[in-house]
Amino acid sequence: MQFSHSQINLYQTCPRKYAHQYIDRMKVSSDSLHLVLWSAVHAWLERLYEQVRDHKIPSLDDVLTAYQQDWDTQVDETQQRQGPEYFTLEDRETFYQRGINYITWYVEAHHPFDQQIPMDTEHRINIDLDDDIRFRWAIDRLDIDEDTITITDYKTNRSLPKDDNDSIKQQITLYALGVLNDYGSKIKHLVGNVIYLHMKKTVTWKITSEEMENAKTYYKDLAREILQKKKLRDKGAKESFPPQQNFQCNGCPFRMICPLWSHGYKSDEAITLDSLWNTTIKALIDQHSKISKQHKALEAEKKEYSKLLGQYGADNDFKKLYGHDFQLRIGESTRYSINKDTEETLLKKLKEHNLLDDLLSIDVFKLAKLFKDGTLDEAERSSLIHKNTSYSAWRAKWIKDKDKEWTEDKIGDS
Ligand code: SF4
Repeated sequence: MQFSHSQINLYQTCPRKYAHQYIDRMKVSSDSLHLVLWSAVHAWLERLYEQVRDHKIPSLDDVLTAYQQDWDTQVDETQQRQGPEYFTLEDRETFYQRGINYITWYVEAHHPFDQQIPMDTEHRINIDLDDDIRFRWAIDRLDIDEDTITITDYKTNRSLPKDDNDSIKQQITLYALGVLNDYGSKIKHLVGNVIYLHMKKTVTWKITSEEMENAKTYYKDLAREILQKKKLRDKGAKESFPPQQNFQCNGCPFRMICPLWSHGYKSDEAITLDSLWNTTIKALIDQHSKISKQHKALEAEKKEYSKLLGQYGADNDFKKLYGHDFQLRIGESTRYSINKDTEETLLKKLKEHNLLDDLLSIDVFKLAKLFKDGTLDEAERSSLIHKNTSYSAWRAKWIKDKDKEWTEDKIGDS
């Protein structure tokens, strides 16, 4: 199966969206001004370096005109697909201006572009990480200097990834594997170079063989996990690619069929409870949530009273307390926890007394998870552990205004 870094990124952000897009092959339109900006800037950079490779050095005015053309092309193509009103004039202007700022900074920092003539732009790479796992992508720019190849990626992100979760660095390291595969006999060193246009920042580092090995294992494991889940899904395991709420949900083309959001698009439904009480599902949801909130507040209050009265009983040696109408029993509960430093000694002691087996119990939730994620064979599950599923609603939360994009006339009673 063929993968790209953006597919893997999508799988990690939301497995359900990944499955719709890359397994079910549902047609999606992910048009946004972020994408228009990204495409226009990348098209412009590709054109710029094609000229530079032909030793034609454009002026700032030339490059701004070229960017204007690339921007207009991207906007026109999107509006042909989505209609002329798809973007507001104000948003278009904001994003267009962002592009102008990126390009002005880039040209001022690099003009006359003679530091290095790129070996290639939009360089296609294929690499097999395993018999059935192939990665394919295009590298923004490749430069070669004696025995060193520099892999450059241009980003229009508005923030830097944190050091401990730098998926961009990992992405470039994966690209390095492909470059090494193609040019390994001619080069000794690989350098990663990410240009964050929004922050006017360039991050450069030497890519080590250890990092490449780690990246190989990382992406191979993730691709394997996807293949394994796909097999489970083919056998009918609906939850193998669960939806995962994330920052992309508001613009997600699958919101109307996503179990986390689709109910919001439905019209209200009447129901009767105990043949006496007529209500609707939406009214019941709001009522349930109001009760949950009150319940939570009352629970906290009850806990405070319990603590105070319990301590009062203990201080005065009362096992029972009497109000005007109710009585309370004073209970005592003690929690024990295992000290990590002495755990070994404790286990030894239990073994000496032949008590270890009595104290060991299987965590059925963890066990069920192993069947669910495919670590253990799901077909054997029913003969080993019983399953009894019931459903309940929980975690009452207000719906944020930004999440309310549904209107009844969008989907009606579907
Ligand atoms: S709406 Fe959100 S959770 Fe649902 S599929 Fe799309 S990205 Fe995933």
